Amino acid sequence: MTEQFDLVIKGGRVIDPATGLDGIQDVAIRDGKIAAIGEGLANGSSAIDAAGQLVMPGMIDTHAHVYEYVSGRFGLNPDLVGVRSGVTTVVDLGGASCMTFPGFRKFIVEPATSKVLAYISIYTVGGLEGHYYPYLYGPGGIDVDACVRAADANKDIVKGIKAHAEPGGISRWGLETLKLAKQASHESGLPVYIHLGQLWPTEGDDEIDMDKELPEIVALLDKGDILAHPFTRHPGGFVNKEGKLHPIVREAIDKGVLIDIGHGSHFSFDMARRVLDAGVLPTTVGADMHGYNTHVPPEAGTPDDHPDDEMHMFAGQAKFSLCHAMTELLAMGVSLEDIVPMVTSNCAMMLGMEDELGSLVVGRTADISVLNFETGDWELHDNGQVTVKTDRRLTPAFCLRAGQRFDADAPILPE
Ligand SMILES: [Zn+2]
Repeated sequence: MTEQFDLVIKGGRVIDPATGLDGIQDVAIRDGKIAAIGEGLANGSSAIDAAGQLVMPGMIDTHAHVYEYVSGRFGLNPDLVGVRSGVTTVVDLGGASCMTFPGFRKFIVEPATSKVLAYISIYTVGGLEGHYYPYLYGPGGIDVDACVRAADANKDIVKGIKAHAEPGGISRWGLETLKLAKQASHESGLPVYIHLGQLWPTEGDDEIDMDKELPEIVALLDKGDILAHPFTRHPGGFVNKEGKLHPIVREAIDKGVLIDIGHGSHFSFDMARRVLDAGVLPTTVGADMHGYNTHVPPEAGTPDDHPDDEMHMFAGQAKFSLCHAMTELLAMGVSLEDIVPMVTSNCAMMLGMEDELGSLVVGRTADISVLNFETGDWELHDNGQVTVKTDRRLTPAFCLRAGQRFDADAPILPE
């Protein structure tokens, strides 16, 4: 007897770290849900041949900026970095705030095809223009009660609180903004997601020694909090002044602190090499694409050729994507088996959504990413002019979001 399905993804290498599955299988979909996983399911049903491709739980980009228009040129269209880039869930990092959350729900989350979640900004104004104006982001621009109320009222979307701990802010306010974010975190029961790596220019004459600050930052953190941008070449990442992994990172990991790469403008091959060689593998990838580091063709919706093109220190990056960040990890010797959880099951754990996301479980919403895994000869570049060669490359082919197929046709994808 043959069961009828709406669609079967046939013959791909199915990798689902949460269940331990890794093998050539078919994945069958019915009514937008995963109906079966096994061999020989395609009989009589419409099928997509995925031979030679990787079939994974829908990828989760744990660091996105998708508050389009409200965050100025900074915010990208959620489906551009989402389903049209092979990614089924995107997590906005601090675009929306207590003041602007209703707009985020109505104009971004609801119309998007991709599933959109958020780490709400600790700052009342949220991430306007990519936090371009530092004076908006001091303790006076924080209302802990309002942040907690907005987080509580939007628990279906809000999975954490976005804050910063970088030299520019510390030179102005010490760690006061992070302490307020932790207060909101304790009151709401949500983790904080902390941007490391210089963002704002420092103020005053005192030099900010991030090697001394990092232990103070880690002391404030609890299990489940997230440190981002470990591989940044800007001051304040995981590599200390001696060029080694800062020893406090191990203590942070031991107490359950999680690590998101947050690629964006904070991915240096040199820093990544030092951190990886010291035996630290981040929890999740997170592409961190935004309107300053991603070239968006005008027809793709968000305005690009902005008169202030040089306004931001992170302007002018090479093209990248979540899959491209995965390729870079492969090139640095991280195994595919270690990388797949960093865009699937580990992300679901970080979001506290293991029961819903990040695994191919029969009965769940059919969010599935299918990738090409090619061999050849390519060069990868970071924003510090370092070039690394690779003979393997991951690119998105298509994804299913709630059972509906989307080809990876985003004009922001590399090549
Ligand atoms: Zn970011």
